[in-house]
Amino acid sequence: MKKKKILLVGEATYISSGYANYGYQIMKRLYDTNEFDLAEISCHGKVERSNEIPWKSYIVPEKSNIFGEDILNDVLINFKPDIVWSFRDPWVDEFIGDCVLRNHFKWVYMPTVDSLPLDIDWIDTINRSDYIFTYTDWAADQLKSICPLMNICGSASPGFDENFKPVEDKAEFKKRNGINEEALIIGSVMRNQKRKLIPDLFDAFCDYLDLAPKELSDKTFLYLHTTYPDVGWNIPRLLAERPKLSNKVLFSYNCNNCFTLSISPFSGAIIQCNNCKQISSTLPRVSKGSKRDDMFMVYNLMDLYVQYSCAEGFGMPLVEAASCGVPICAVDYSAMTDIVNKLEGYPIKVQRYTYEVETNRKFALPDNKSFVDICINHFKKPYPIRNVIGKKTRDLVFKNYNYENTFKKIKSVFDSIPFSSTWNNSASYIEIPNEFNEDISNVEFINKIFDKLPINFGNIKQKCLFKLNYRIKTKEDIYSELSYIFNTYNKYEKLRAN
Ligand SMILES: [Zn+2]
Repeated sequence: MKKKKILLVGEATYISSGYANYGYQIMKRLYDTNEFDLAEISCHGKVERSNEIPWKSYIVPEKSNIFGEDILNDVLINFKPDIVWSFRDPWVDEFIGDCVLRNHFKWVYMPTVDSLPLDIDWIDTINRSDYIFTYTDWAADQLKSICPLMNICGSASPGFDENFKPVEDKAEFKKRNGINEEALIIGSVMRNQKRKLIPDLFDAFCDYLDLAPKELSDKTFLYLHTTYPDVGWNIPRLLAERPKLSNKVLFSYNCNNCFTLSISPFSGAIIQCNNCKQISSTLPRVSKGSKRDDMFMVYNLMDLYVQYSCAEGFGMPLVEAASCGVPICAVDYSAMTDIVNKLEGYPIKVQRYTYEVETNRKFALPDNKSFVDICINHFKKPYPIRNVIGKKTRDLVFKNYNYENTFKKIKSVFDSIPFSSTWNNSASYIEIPNEFNEDISNVEFINKIFDKLPINFGNIKQKCLFKLNYRIKTKEDIYSELSYIFNTYNKYEKLRAN
């Protein structure tokens, strides 16, 4: 039986990252059906690890574009897929929509949509795909309202990881890890970056310490599993400015020598490891990440998980914490709204919206008072009630964030896509005029070039006209840009037809 060919463009499915894991979970299930011929363009891939997966891996060379752009055309010619599948940001995957062999495959795309309004170029990119999935129902609704004609197939959210489950005895687990068994832990897992509102969370936690009954505030701690130093906040400074928080905010420290994870108040960027006694424990680093076992421990120490961000594309830690039976609260905006609703967590009210300078998107600012009320009300509940809420949270994860269901949705779309019939068609070349006329209008100039093209180059025509009309580029610039694209097209037409 002829098998449909699917090419995944994304992070190597054998590395440790959210994108990689998503790809792996779906690819291994597709592979097990024996109905597909599979391959991946492996960003951050390593030759020596590529045999960990049973399908073909085209590794992105180190010195080329890290997202796979430089090898895409060659891989397409070599593999001739019926379907190209990707699930990254629109600005990352734009090149798939613009590639010169675009006519020969269907593109199934799941863009990250984390806030509104979307950049017009991102909408263009999403529109270049044939079948659209979204990370959340929230994003599907937003896209439907922006572009009712988009072919939106619904959400295909990432699923829970079986390794994340609750410990039998939370109090005993806390004690074993050096934390008072009576302690109440509000926790969060995040990279230290601009959109994670760490100073706001610190302010809100100060308010909690003031407003909560003393018997609660005395034993409540804020626990952050975050990175430092990183591109985001100056954590020591934020703590120094809030003396009330000294000893009330805990951090994960990872030993770079024996890999032991420990929890302690902030005591510098590098400290002595409790286990091997080397001065080698640092806050977790982006490049290293943390082991799954470590994350199991991090989540299980928490009594309430909070996501204090102005926007999220998905927010995997919410699902991971919930799989460990930890009740969740999150800002009522973007993907967080979706997850908090599905898992019946506590939505934190938005106080107001603000705009991001780079993209003009709306970001939400949480209402600190709303968060404080949630924490007080939750911790006032006796432990058996909180325990039942945690169990329900976990049950809802099984129901809503399940890779089996996500796989079925994606496979049914793959099944519905016909085989590509054009890979072996004879070549059709673009004739590039040797010169161009400076004296004609911008529209005439552009129409003349785009008049008789054998394929649709998407919105390149509009983009060129925009640049000319706003005098961002001259006719000469545009002529040379287009010559480059058309020469690339001709080169791959020749390769394809041979
Ligand atoms: Zn150590």
